[in-house]
Amino acid sequence: MEVQVTVQPQITSHPTRSGATLPSVPAERQNAPAASRPVRDAAQPHRVSRPHSGAPPDDDARRRAPDAAADPHPAHQVPRPTADAPQRSTGASTSHAGTSTSHLDAGDVDFEPQEDDIRVEYHPNSGRPSTTSHFEEFTRKTPSSYTPPPDDIPWWPFRSEFDYEFVRLCLAAGLNKDQVNSFIALMRRVERGGESFTFASHADMQRTWKDAYDNLTPFKKQPFTVRYKDEDLEHVLWTRNLENYAKDLLSDPLLVADMEFDAQRLMKRTGGEWERFVDEPCTANRFWDVQSKLPPGAKPLALHLYADKTKLSSFGTAKGHPVIARIANLPVHIRNGRGKGGGRIVAWLPIVSVPELPEDTTDPVYVNYKREVYHVGFRHILEPVKAPSRIGFWFRCGDQVERNFYIFIVIVSADHEEQCYLVLIRGVGSLFPCPVCLVPSKQLWDLLKTWELHTGDKAKIVLALARSQSTADAKEKILKEWGLRDKDNSFLELANSDPFRAVGFDRLHAFHLGLWGKHIWVLIKKYLHTLKAGAQFDKQMNMIPRWRGLSHFKSDTYKTSFADGKKMEDLSKNTLFVVHNILTKTASPHGYLLCSMLRSYLEVDMYLSFDVHTETTIREGEACQKEFAIRLANEKKAKDWNFIKIHSHTHGFQDILEKGVMKNHDTKPSEQMHGPNKDRYDQSNHKDTDEWASEKVAQAEAEAAATAPADETYDISADAPASSVTAVSDATVCAHYKLRSVVRASQRTLGDIELAHPDDEAFDKLHVRLNTYLTATFRAHGITIPRNAQSVQLKPSHQIKEYRQLDIFYESKVDWRQSSDIVRAHPHFHSRERCGSTTYSTRILQVD
Ligand SMILES: [Zn+2]
Repeated sequence: MEVQVTVQPQITSHPTRSGATLPSVPAERQNAPAASRPVRDAAQPHRVSRPHSGAPPDDDARRRAPDAAADPHPAHQVPRPTADAPQRSTGASTSHAGTSTSHLDAGDVDFEPQEDDIRVEYHPNSGRPSTTSHFEEFTRKTPSSYTPPPDDIPWWPFRSEFDYEFVRLCLAAGLNKDQVNSFIALMRRVERGGESFTFASHADMQRTWKDAYDNLTPFKKQPFTVRYKDEDLEHVLWTRNLENYAKDLLSDPLLVADMEFDAQRLMKRTGGEWERFVDEPCTANRFWDVQSKLPPGAKPLALHLYADKTKLSSFGTAKGHPVIARIANLPVHIRNGRGKGGGRIVAWLPIVSVPELPEDTTDPVYVNYKREVYHVGFRHILEPVKAPSRIGFWFRCGDQVERNFYIFIVIVSADHEEQCYLVLIRGVGSLFPCPVCLVPSKQLWDLLKTWELHTGDKAKIVLALARSQSTADAKEKILKEWGLRDKDNSFLELANSDPFRAVGFDRLHAFHLGLWGKHIWVLIKKYLHTLKAGAQFDKQMNMIPRWRGLSHFKSDTYKTSFADGKKMEDLSKNTLFVVHNILTKTASPHGYLLCSMLRSYLEVDMYLSFDVHTETTIREGEACQKEFAIRLANEKKAKDWNFIKIHSHTHGFQDILEKGVMKNHDTKPSEQMHGPNKDRYDQSNHKDTDEWASEKVAQAEAEAAATAPADETYDISADAPASSVTAVSDATVCAHYKLRSVVRASQRTLGDIELAHPDDEAFDKLHVRLNTYLTATFRAHGITIPRNAQSVQLKPSHQIKEYRQLDIFYESKVDWRQSSDIVRAHPHFHSRERCGSTTYSTRILQVD
């Protein structure tokens, strides 16, 4: 069978967003100007709630459940990738923007929408009316009539808070039995001081532990066999009941208060029109489409899964293959956090190895055997949610409201190799290596074309047709032409859980560790090597000012390999600034072209990283993708750019429209959970890896569930803590800035400063030059000069006060929330003087 592909322009050109150009990227992202209008406070408390139906279980509703997993097509009707096949849509698919305002707040027919108003349309099946709010009044929660009961003993089932703290310390220290008993003897003495300390022995502590983690859905051992050649080989899966895991979270009144159970479309009034914007999965298309298939009143319960094999031991001999689950109805800051609502390991897939074969063998029998083990394992993991995805289930949540849920898989985060396992395509080396679309393997570099999408329904039909062939060759020919493997996909047994739609672009693996780390960065180093400019590169890299949230590279950057995705992301941002005077047009013509490509890459990456996307920013991002494609074509002679990681970002903006912004499907928060697993492995006897790991994970989660706030959040991009030297005191606060860390001994006059530095040009006639600078700055920004004078008139006798920290508050241009940034000067930051920005001196002065 010959596969036809559609070739048509993918992206229309749109003007580039003003101010979005490089090399100002880092500065723009962190230093947007303060806004004049009120801004939404990110820290605004979320106090629930949504209207609850409270409807009793309805047998008719249960019977009305859809069966989306049923195959709607007869096997002989194989869809072929054809010229008139539907192509992926672009940002234009957000067609609800600018819709009628006829559903304004009930009873307020005279409501006139204003600029920046926010409109929320709920799915018709939710029975909830649309609402419109003025920008400053908009929150993501409606006022609640439900107040979770106070938790008087959050440390239960430990007998006291002190007991819990003791156990936590033992676990963190990795103490053995004798050490614990010694510790207990010590604590007995403490008890006499009045603390409630009740442990009698190590066994007593373990019994309490067991009571604690038995309250969460436990792991169970699930052995199964898969045939390899002529032998049935046994494998062991450790898994938790996925439905019960979801019920654990739904039972928590604090968590359920933060969950959104209805699909919604959010719009913002801009330029007299309603413009749709997307952030969480419930605001994106997939959630809406699924709720459209459910009975009225039923709620989609969205699962986000992550899977990846990881090394547990330092030398990589011990490996684990955890599967991590999250409830996507929770907001992303909780879902990616460390509390009970954060990611939880729900299974350890078996590690497959046959001693006589290398792991990367391409032997087809072995390759198919590994896929079979993978999907039999996942079939066991998904079995508990198979019926809940098709016929739903009723559950009384922690807020005492009974709801009719239908579970579906909305997102699967994984690297490319894992995605190929998951959707059962042949991957790299096959005719069609993309898990999302049918891009031919030789045209991965051509980013200006779009290709027919894979779907689960098409895969099932192709498989049925291939299996109906009379010869093995004929069967193989059909499967090869679609890049598929002869295996049944476990995800397709669930309703509304097409794995081809659940996987997608991943910035960490495809961009930071992939396209940048393995290709662009390698090529830049090659050009630097040709010019013998490695030392200059390192020197200039070290001169990049330290900035909160941005890795600083001190020395030997040119020769160092970085495995950390965040470091690679920051390296890509810094490199363009560092090489601009090295890889010039004349010194390195190819290096110069590569830099222009790097600039486009950074712009695409910046847009893909946004926490909120409007139709406008989607169009702007796609325009950057087009620019990147053109620059790539110019640089095509430098190396072979035909690999999957240069193609996968073409699905990035479609993923955002389908499943929410990128941080919803980021693999980074799950990858960071590998670290604690390695620590636990180091403390183990290094035997029975999965069994031991399941036990330890359950203990650790019991710890988190026992006292950590259920909705504890955590900012994965947070920088190192603020300087420990500068005391935060005597702050001078204005509306959008705050001066902090006053240097107490610095109360001097301008004249004193000039006299103290007689040989330093920087201080020569400081007051005169300061007057000139401030006058020009005030005029440029329309600021009235004090006392209505024509110019600022500071004199040598004016007293000055030195500060070392300036906090700036502003409205983020990306998500409209209040953001802050810090410019900090420090004389001994990591043994060297630090300033927050090149545009500021190392002193921040206030003139009294
Ligand atoms: Zn593709």
